[in-house]
Amino acid sequence: MMAYRVRIERDKCMGDAICTALCSNWYMDTDGKARFRQETISDSDYESNHEAEISCPAGIIEVRKA
Ligand code: SF4
Repeated sequence: MMAYRVRIERDKCMGDAICTALCSNWYMDTDGKARFRQETISDSDYESNHEAEISCPAGIIEVRKA
């Protein structure tokens, strides 16, 4: 089983909530910027987090092998 780590450059978040629509690991915080729930994710959560990564228009989400 592979573990992955997610990252976000929050200061550059545009607040469009695209990631949150694609993956339940992401939510919009009260400051209008996205935040992840879990930093370390497993195989089963990789696909949806990767979708968020490649769909973020600001390119600020990273999903890498832990
Ligand atoms: S998709 Fe990217 S820019 Fe949009 S809310 Fe998520 S992290 Fe922010």
